[in-house]
Amino acid sequence: MVDMDKMVSLCKRRGFIFQSSEIYGGTGSCWDYGPLGVELKNNVKRAWWRDNVQNRADMVGLDASILMHSRVWQASGHLDHFTDPMVDCRACQRRFRSDQLDDDLWVHFCDATKGNKFSIPGGEVCKHCGKKRTLCPACGKGELTEPRQFNLMFKTFMGPVEDDAAVTYLRPETAQGIFVNFDNVVQSMRLKLPFGIAQIGKAFRNEITPGNFTFRSREFEQMEIEFFVMPGTDEEWHQKWIDERFAWYPKYGMRKENLRLREHDKDELAHYAKRTADIEYLFPMGWSELEGIANRTDFDLKQHAQFSGKALDYFDEESKQKIVPYVIEPSAGADRGTLAFLVDAYREEEVRGEKRVVLNFHPELAPVKIAVLPLLKKNERIVETARKLTAELRKRWYTVYDDTASIGRLYRRQDEVGTPFCVTVDVQTVGDEKAPADEKVTIRDRNTMQQVRVAFSSVEIVIAKLMDGHWDEIYRDSDWAG
Ligand SMILES: [Zn+2]
Ligand SMILES: [Zn+2]
Repeated sequence: MVDMDKMVSLCKRRGFIFQSSEIYGGTGSCWDYGPLGVELKNNVKRAWWRDNVQNRADMVGLDASILMHSRVWQASGHLDHFTDPMVDCRACQRRFRSDQLDDDLWVHFCDATKGNKFSIPGGEVCKHCGKKRTLCPACGKGELTEPRQFNLMFKTFMGPVEDDAAVTYLRPETAQGIFVNFDNVVQSMRLKLPFGIAQIGKAFRNEITPGNFTFRSREFEQMEIEFFVMPGTDEEWHQKWIDERFAWYPKYGMRKENLRLREHDKDELAHYAKRTADIEYLFPMGWSELEGIANRTDFDLKQHAQFSGKALDYFDEESKQKIVPYVIEPSAGADRGTLAFLVDAYREEEVRGEKRVVLNFHPELAPVKIAVLPLLKKNERIVETARKLTAELRKRWYTVYDDTASIGRLYRRQDEVGTPFCVTVDVQTVGDEKAPADEKVTIRDRNTMQQVRVAFSSVEIVIAKLMDGHWDEIYRDSDWAG
């Protein structure tokens, strides 16, 4: 398993993820996706959307605004319940979650050793004086305030006046945008239960302790589904969604042994939830939540009906009755998913005595699908042919052209960003005084490093098959090379 520092450094070096506002020292809690990162994350989101929305007859999509009416957050319970207990240091002003104070290293100036400074593991006592931590764990000097509840929503003002009436919040989850549009969607699309509404969008939480790279940041992107069902069928649908979502990640190459399900204990359940199961991934810092799948019952629709005064129910033709549907919520993180796919794809191998770093992304998720590489950049016919081929392939797949290093270096670079296939144009392709052009190119597979020689005219058909995972077949079948 790759450690997080190595991942952070690869991501920066190869244009996947940068720290936000880095030239100003960074924020430490927000991240920017670079040229390759945005491709990867978009591919994750696209795969999710296609599988969960477009390929299902019982699902529709939505894109609700980030700023909503402030009453939404009263109805949802976020104003009252979306809090963490926190304490402040009176000396350095740093803020900590009071329930996590003893988790990390603490700084201690020990009286028993003339005030020497020590870093002591979380929860342990000082070896010299035997004291436990009571002061600020970061500066080791300040007294801590009493714990108080700290709301995690970002407060802001809507409109030209900054007064109490204009207060609103950046949404802490995309789900509420779906609940408040329930009636609009049902009426406009004439939906029958069971059906789902899916949404991908940004959410914001002022986490006291963000960290572990993009795993926990203050601005993040969710991929959420609210799946509405008849009360009484909710438990069965919940299980179906748990199974379905658990099977989704391996479909795009994530190793099954790095995934597990974790059932929430009764006392851990959110105030609206009847049952919740998390899909966890074995990140470098340990098993952590990738996606939560909750049975939210009819809590949200009932709350919004009560607070808005508008009925949010569904007329059941069979029983001729109005009912409030139950809702199953598979809620995934686009950033966490992207990070998990990155970590899972990382491989270090030894090839002929040299280290090779490979990201073996599923072709569907790989940021760049094809790299076209000219073997000699001084040969005009090779370069011209390679550029023409790049333009041709680009119509269908994200393809790059690179002639800035030797072929070995170029392969290594593409391996490190997970490009599944490289196409090389060489002297044989275009011919010279000694031999006529054979009009074939070499296609190299990232994972096996095997190569096949393919006629120029069949490159597109062959690559289409390779993208579907048929390397072995192509490699064996010499007809393709003819
Ligand atoms: Zn302090
Ligand atoms: Zn001490």
